[in-house]
Amino acid sequence: MSKFLIQGATGDFEVVIGLEVHAQVISNAKLFSGAATEFGAEPNAQVSLVDAAMPGMLPTINAECIRQAVRTGLALGAEINKFSVFDRKNYFYADLPQGYQISQFKHPIVGEGTITLDLGDGRSKDVGIERIHLEQDAGKSMHDQHPQYTYVDLNRSGVALMEIVSKPDMTSPEEAGAYLTKLRTILRYIGSCDGNMEQGSMRADVNVSVRRAGEPLGTRCEIKNVNSIRFVRQAIEYEAQRQVDIIEAGGKIDQETRLFDPGKGETRSMRSKEEAHDYRYFPDPDLLPIEFDEAFIDAARDSLPELPDEKKARFIEDLGLPDYNASVLVAEKESCDYFEDLIAALVKKTGKDAKAVGAKASNWVTGDLFGALNKAGKSVTESPVSAEQGADLLALIEDGTISGRIAKDVFEIMFDTSKDAGVIVEEKGLRQVSDTGEIEQIIDEVIAANPAQLEQYRAGKDKLIGFFVGQVMKATGGKANPGMVNKLLKPKLDG
Ligand code: ADP
Ligand code: MG
Repeated sequence: MSKFLIQGATGDFEVVIGLEVHAQVISNAKLFSGAATEFGAEPNAQVSLVDAAMPGMLPTINAECIRQAVRTGLALGAEINKFSVFDRKNYFYADLPQGYQISQFKHPIVGEGTITLDLGDGRSKDVGIERIHLEQDAGKSMHDQHPQYTYVDLNRSGVALMEIVSKPDMTSPEEAGAYLTKLRTILRYIGSCDGNMEQGSMRADVNVSVRRAGEPLGTRCEIKNVNSIRFVRQAIEYEAQRQVDIIEAGGKIDQETRLFDPGKGETRSMRSKEEAHDYRYFPDPDLLPIEFDEAFIDAARDSLPELPDEKKARFIEDLGLPDYNASVLVAEKESCDYFEDLIAALVKKTGKDAKAVGAKASNWVTGDLFGALNKAGKSVTESPVSAEQGADLLALIEDGTISGRIAKDVFEIMFDTSKDAGVIVEEKGLRQVSDTGEIEQIIDEVIAANPAQLEQYRAGKDKLIGFFVGQVMKATGGKANPGMVNKLLKPKLDG
């Protein structure tokens, strides 16, 4: 792919992007209280006295949230800090009853790590993680409930967030999208965040600056709380162009916080950038520093599943998958689960080596199955054809009972009816004809019925062999074994 550049009147500009992702931690209770965290409850049904900031209430650290942050750090190959500190970040907002957010500033729980982006066609790129810190989420102001008043829902108040801060290593909207996709995949694999951007459990602050090639980093603007990958891409494109236009007109970029308006596809100014000292951070006197030992980290590491990069490498090495198929499969854990169940069943049914059937099976899953699921608007977990049933179908191709062509028809019926492949093949009489005598007889009939074509063929029009193959396949309703037809036809045509 060519480099992403913005053309200005006086030359090309590069865009530089750094992302701060807020990821809601999966845990039954909030970061500092026992209140529930489930999405979709009635407003203010999940609020403890701590979350409502009643005077004198004391926060208690939920160890599960700490463990999830450590697991996330480990999954990103990051440095884990055995000593970290909760700080108060002071600001006023109606949905922040404490008047401060408990966050981490100087001593975050996780330090530097890496995410490897999958950019398609086997291209990849490493993006640095600067840090991950834990903090409380705020409540939610509801502006659409009453004509005069804004209501406040504190259900989200105090839910644990991980703020995952990247280095300014991305240089195109495509890379920012790939970063979010990969991060979400990893979070979902390890179960530390559900990654549902449309429900707000993962959202991104998008930092964008532009510069001419070789120049130092430009002044950035931060676009707050973008809640879909598509909007992140659009926001970057718009914002980069806006900054280039200002610079080309002789202006300079003010560091500020902006909002993306999805309706207009524009960003607009929200406030000038606040600095750390505006928040008067200080260590929260109600909380001791977090300290844990190596054993806590080891246990967190032991709880991690096989990660997408490891899985992809194994699919390519051990199962012979093409890079593209492996990437598609590992993007979602559920897809991998389906594929691995299918391979296990197929190996059992055919007695063949996993590597001998892996590539073909991955073509079927990522092509036929995903195509049909996509069209039906279903996820792989809702597939009307189970992994076991998929393996049945592929086993019938492997042992020559049906051809690959017929298998596509059988699959269509399976997808509509959830019937087993074997049943459909018998009911519809779709068994492949592999009997030499039977095929020879049909060939003879086809040759006899087409004397003109035979004459042309024998006069040197070799290409007509395709015509005869087609006629034989037609005569058998597509069921003749194509390999055998090809083999038996030529000697007969040649006479
Ligand atoms: P803050 O917490 O004030 O937003 P940070 O220094 O933590 O500031 O940086 C926040 C994000 O901004 C990081 O993701 C970082 O990669 C990104 N960033 C920093 N400088 C630039 C820049 N010049 N252009 C684009 N992104 C940047
Ligand atoms: Mg920021």
